[in-house]
Amino acid sequence: MNRLKARPFLDGGHGPAKPKAYAPGVDEQAVAWILAETVCGLLEADPRIRPGRTRASYWETPRLSERVATANQAGADIFISIHLNDNPSPRPRGLEVYYYGRSSTGQALADKMAAAITEATGYQGPVRVIGSPSPRYKTTLYVLKRTAMPALLIEGGFLSNRQDADLYKNGTFPGAICRGIQRGTVEALKHLGRLP
Ligand SMILES: [Zn+2]
Repeated sequence: MNRLKARPFLDGGHGPAKPKAYAPGVDEQAVAWILAETVCGLLEADPRIRPGRTRASYWETPRLSERVATANQAGADIFISIHLNDNPSPRPRGLEVYYYGRSSTGQALADKMAAAITEATGYQGPVRVIGSPSPRYKTTLYVLKRTAMPALLIEGGFLSNRQDADLYKNGTFPGAICRGIQRGTVEALKHLGRLP
């Protein structure tokens, strides 16, 4: 019966052993974990969906290859990695949704995810949908390339930017972005024919 359920995979970026972006009071890996767990909880409320996760507990810091292998072995329908961005300059801000640049399906799913997040959060800064690789973004992000299923990587704002970092200190933004990611995931699963 479970095999009939749609199977999104949530990946909260990094882990305590490998922290990345950081602002006073906001730690990327901790926030990414909480966001991924919250999205899993929202998706689990739908009996047609059985979400999976790449980190079974907060304390796990699997390698990227392990995260991808977990999703591939589970036969995931879509892989969604959640991160927070940073930059040497405090100026850049914005939300970003990356997709594997050689996939037109990936681009369609990324457009849906970006729209759902923007609508749910009312975010006022720039929202970018970026192919990886693409002519203006040469890097190929590992989890987008190595996953057997369509994959998206969400950067939920720049912790190096005061306005973006403040969104995670209190208030409604974290809950809203989780609802946006949930809706974007449902839209993506519909696009893939895994939900009616
Ligand atoms: Zn990250």
